[in-house]
Amino acid sequence: MGTSVKVTFWHNDEVQAKKIASAFFAEMERINQLMSPYIESSELYSINKNAGIKEVSIGEELYQLIELSIEIGNQTNGAFDITFASVGFLYNYRERINPNQESLLNNQALIDYRQIKLNPQKQSVLLTQEGMKIDLGGIAKGYAVDNAVALLQTLGVTSALVSAGGDTKALGKHGQRPWLLAIQDPRKKGKHAIQLPMEDEAISTSGDYERYFIKEGIRHHHIIDPKTGRSASEVQSVSIIGAKSVMTDALSTSVFVLGVKEGLALINQMPAYEALIIDKDRKLHFSNGLLAN
Ligand code: ADP
Ligand code: MG
Repeated sequence: MGTSVKVTFWHNDEVQAKKIASAFFAEMERINQLMSPYIESSELYSINKNAGIKEVSIGEELYQLIELSIEIGNQTNGAFDITFASVGFLYNYRERINPNQESLLNNQALIDYRQIKLNPQKQSVLLTQEGMKIDLGGIAKGYAVDNAVALLQTLGVTSALVSAGGDTKALGKHGQRPWLLAIQDPRKKGKHAIQLPMEDEAISTSGDYERYFIKEGIRHHHIIDPKTGRSASEVQSVSIIGAKSVMTDALSTSVFVLGVKEGLALINQMPAYEALIIDKDRKLHFSNGLLAN
């Protein structure tokens, strides 16, 4: 998944615990194989390869996640757009490459999740334009975390902490106490901005400090504003807290793009989700539900 996956859980039988851990990692890898845009045998790869050519029938799991991604696109006024990858692939953070003006202009029109055509009868997906690409990097890890926690529960685990990159979910408590989650200071490596107690809920953090490079004073990072094809620059970090990891993941990316005002307005009308934003001047902002506590 291009990130580190971690699980912590309690079990009183060591042999059994090892089996559970293997089942956990096998399940995470299964999702990676299905949803990675880089693995040539993945369903997602096949959808992208056939952009502008033909629809591709896929399994229910990926179909539903794409359907949900489109729904979130609608809810966020297009801030969440899995077709960002039509431009996103032109960035290479390790090699410090960002698209030049010309290729940006050429590809920008291909960012439009409304151009993804779903056919429920065939359970198929068509990217209507040649060159269009989708990438589920803003939602698949959250989905994988929910899925893995559910798996742990069916295996009898009642206390666990699961994380994939910036997406974490707490199952039950850590002994007698809630799990304690730290939010990274976006500009001071290894330092925490804030700590939060967590129990049976998920938290996702999107930041501009994980995958980035700075060129001519501009920070290029992996969260792309679909309207411009460039890295979103209003805030440094967004954390979303709520029941479902798949939602906290997608919403943290969305609010990062929307910025403080629109982002808080969005979260304040979703009773099940809360937001904590660190803006570009390092100021903290909280959604109404967090202010009330
Ligand atoms: P991570 O946990 O990988 O840091 P985030 O939740 O912060 O992920 O989301 C960043 C990822 O989301 C990017 O690496 C990319 O794959 C994807 N992404 C970037 N911009 C958008 C966007 N506007 N809409 C949907 N997904 C996006
Ligand atoms: Mg996210």
